[in-house]
Amino acid sequence: MTKPTPSKLAMVPFVSVDNMMKIVNTIGPARVIADIADYIEADFLRWEQFDKTPRVAAHSDEGVIELMPTSDGETYGFKYVNGHPANMSRGFQTVTAFGVLARVDNGYPILLSEMTVLTALRTAATSAVAAKYLAPKTSKTMAMIGNGAQCEFQALAFQEVIGIDTVRLYDIDAVATQKAAKNLSETGLNIVTCSSAQEAVTGADIITTCTADKQYATILTDNMVGAGQHINAIGGDCPGKTELHRDILLRSDIFVEYPPQTRIEGEIQQLNPDHPVTELWKVIAGKSEGRKDAAQITLFDSVGFATEDFSALRYVRDQLDRTGHYSLLDMLADPDDPRDLFGMLRRAG
Ligand code: NAD
Repeated sequence: MTKPTPSKLAMVPFVSVDNMMKIVNTIGPARVIADIADYIEADFLRWEQFDKTPRVAAHSDEGVIELMPTSDGETYGFKYVNGHPANMSRGFQTVTAFGVLARVDNGYPILLSEMTVLTALRTAATSAVAAKYLAPKTSKTMAMIGNGAQCEFQALAFQEVIGIDTVRLYDIDAVATQKAAKNLSETGLNIVTCSSAQEAVTGADIITTCTADKQYATILTDNMVGAGQHINAIGGDCPGKTELHRDILLRSDIFVEYPPQTRIEGEIQQLNPDHPVTELWKVIAGKSEGRKDAAQITLFDSVGFATEDFSALRYVRDQLDRTGHYSLLDMLADPDDPRDLFGMLRRAG
């Protein structure tokens, strides 16, 4: 029997960029970030259930393309993501992404989603989760160095989850700072635009570095970081690409997502391979200490890990019925007799 249209069971929900924006604007960006933070925290709490591997990276002179897989035994997920620092000057995004969730029991995909917007949301959410455990409880001011695509998401996350009221913006490109200041103007945050990184960090409880450059950069020098500050280092996420002077690392207590990946990609690629670091999930689970005292410098050496994308995709899937912002893709061949794939092809002709 010929099937004129694929059965709904064989269709895969697809969240386009347009529908992702509709989901986020329906719920509200700050609420979405806080909710994704809850999903990320819940998955960090069951860390040991996940299959984990450093992401699979294909490097080129221009950038990197990476696959980030994981599974909790019931659901499998992966993200495709690139990082091309020169893209921005060519009119492209530095980071673009899409991702998939699939059933482990039969291997069928159950969600295909854009993840460029979602990556910014989940990166901000992850930073906020880390800061919840590591930043001084009284934090009110964040310096934000690098005012590109990730910037406003980070600011919103720290306002919503941590309760900061002031963001001090700096970028080598003043146009980026103006863009971020304008986008954040209606958030209620007190926005201070700065003309140097040194000026931006003055009086900050939290310093976020989120710059893009395929080199060992020194966005923060040792003298710019004082006792008690929390550093949220986002931009150093590739071999040969870091943002902090090594001396800062030697004075800090360093917290990471998945050490085998961070040792390759994070700020700690500048340190000996046995330099002690603490896994963030252990702090969340109460197995390791986070911030111990007011003078300690805490550093979240963020590179982005597969479970965070898995959590974000899980969150998006849970919003589909509620928001209706998705379409169905005919991605699965569905012959009446599973062995008669060729017959299905012939009948369609
Ligand atoms: P982007 O290109 O949109 O913005 C980067 C900004 O950094 C630009 O505005 C640029 O002018 C600025 N910049 C470059 N050098 C600077 C310097 N020395 N001082 C101040 N500003 C400087 O990139 P994006 O999408 O915002 O991403 C930023 C970085 O974060 C990238 O390196 C990306 O790979 C990384 N990232 C990390 C994660 C993670 O999970 N850790 C997730 C997403 C992106």
